[in-house]
Amino acid sequence: MTTPASTRPYNFSAGPAAIPEEVLRLAAADMLDWHGSGMSVMEMSHRGKEFISIYERAEADLRELLAVPPHFRILFMQGGGLAENAIVPLNLSGGTSADFVVTGSWSQKSLKEARKYCTVHVAASTEADGYTTLPDPAGWQLADNAAYVHICTNETIHGVEFQILPDLKALGSKAPLVIDFSSHVASRAVDWSRVGLAFGGAQKNLGPAGVTLVVVREDLLGHALPACPSAFDYKTVADSHSMYNTPPTWAIYVAGLTFQWLKKQGGIAAMEQRNIAKAQLLYDFIDRSQFYANRVAPSCRSRMNVPFFLRDESRNEAFLAGAKDRGLLQLKGHKSVGGMRASIYNAMPIAGVQALVNYMQEFERTQS
Ligand SMILES: *Cc1c(COP(=O)(O)O)cnc(C)c1O
Repeated sequence: MTTPASTRPYNFSAGPAAIPEEVLRLAAADMLDWHGSGMSVMEMSHRGKEFISIYERAEADLRELLAVPPHFRILFMQGGGLAENAIVPLNLSGGTSADFVVTGSWSQKSLKEARKYCTVHVAASTEADGYTTLPDPAGWQLADNAAYVHICTNETIHGVEFQILPDLKALGSKAPLVIDFSSHVASRAVDWSRVGLAFGGAQKNLGPAGVTLVVVREDLLGHALPACPSAFDYKTVADSHSMYNTPPTWAIYVAGLTFQWLKKQGGIAAMEQRNIAKAQLLYDFIDRSQFYANRVAPSCRSRMNVPFFLRDESRNEAFLAGAKDRGLLQLKGHKSVGGMRASIYNAMPIAGVQALVNYMQEFERTQS
């Protein structure tokens, strides 16, 4: 039962991803009997006082951590980021049109799904350079009548991340900005003055799969298309405090433990500093090496997902096997990009990134 911390491997999975060991241990300790209630969290009524207290604390902690202003509502939904690709246009498009900035697989997927519900317009795309850069907002072709503008602020597969959110007002657009922040939520601060709605699945950086976080400005509630399923109507969900239907109680509980852990770590500002240091350690090593390469423009690189390639790709399998032997797991890149990918979310300590760099160095030495 009590595995010492040092024996757990470092898990670089893109998602579902590593969860802090402390959080897993707390969940394990509460498994059969949550706080003397005689029940596991999984067995509780979502309307009972025990779960309501878990829910309210999770929401309050998240609001504090992400500095979510009072005129935004926090919703805990189901369906993941992919369902939000439909739920957003069902709620916000009015069946008219929406602008998309296509910067990788995830924003591409969002655009394809939205097309079922409204007219989609590509305001900018970096497909031509293989999604290794981000388009300058000054050059975006924003439509006059777009109901919203969608961007993916961290492209999990291609490893590009917006370092600054676009200021749509300054670009002459009145449309709300929708951000898919699935894979970097809680890794850095969010400038809510520039955002209308943010969504993200929990399984990258907040906890287990099964709960989807939506943070939505109040004035965007209540505009769903008649065909929108009630369980996915943001107003219905907001009015019922995410309890219109049974919420993913266990996932919300573990996410709530993660929020408490984040607060103990010093909050988002402290995490952001650590994430900067972790990403820098890895990118600096890759950039200095003749053996490994990252193809993303330095100013657009993700702090969370670091795709990289061995210059000699015939050594990929040996690299992955050696990594696994050293307790460095799930480094294989996404099949659409190839190569390797190290996902270094909040739960990855700098020691894990250092262990990866040490291994990469050692592997290079033994292969040349
Ligand atoms: C993982 C991911 C998704 C999809 O999440 P699901 O929970 O599988 O639906 C969407 N967007 C981004 C940026 C992601 O990283």
